[in-house]
Amino acid sequence: MSFFFLGERLAVDLLNTVVVQDGRVRDLLQGPRDVAAWAEAAGALPHGALRGSPAGQEPERLRGFRETLRRGLVAWAAGGTPPRGLIALLNRHLARDPEVTEVTASRGNVVTRRRPAGAPLDRLYGAVARSVAELLAGDDPRRLRKCANPACRLMFYDVSKAGRRRWCSMQTCGGQAKARAFYRRRRDGSHGRRADPLQ
Ligand SMILES: [Zn+2]
Repeated sequence: MSFFFLGERLAVDLLNTVVVQDGRVRDLLQGPRDVAAWAEAAGALPHGALRGSPAGQEPERLRGFRETLRRGLVAWAAGGTPPRGLIALLNRHLARDPEVTEVTASRGNVVTRRRPAGAPLDRLYGAVARSVAELLAGDDPRRLRKCANPACRLMFYDVSKAGRRRWCSMQTCGGQAKARAFYRRRRDGSHGRRADPLQ
């Protein structure tokens, strides 16, 4: 099982657990093991954190959460305003994972740190909800996009300076489009006449 981490935001990487492979839509979050594997691979939870936790119903719940987020984020990207229901949903999940401040003292050196206090599953939902909240609060809706390949479902937040990222990856969709454009130009005998728009 390999996941895609090219969304530049945790929440967008969660959306990218639905992929198209060999022309078929495939959901990568099938069972409890997939939930744990994704949470760990995404860095949302430490290794083994979900072991022994009641994750039996979780794939279905997480898939439902993901699709609600997808609808809300797509609406935000299109119109610049998050749906009201999305804000309420985020607050519910943020409340599952409160942070506590801890103070420690060692040889007169006193430090404070904040740590998430929720159970592992709550921390997973909390981390994704925080990612969406930060996206809505501080990011540009016009930079949340779907890959320009119509056959690809992957999404990303464009962090490039120019803000012109079009592809999920240059190794896959971008590279294929570039190769197609190259052969088309060569076939049409227009090689070298115009700049490659994909450069
Ligand atoms: Zn793509």
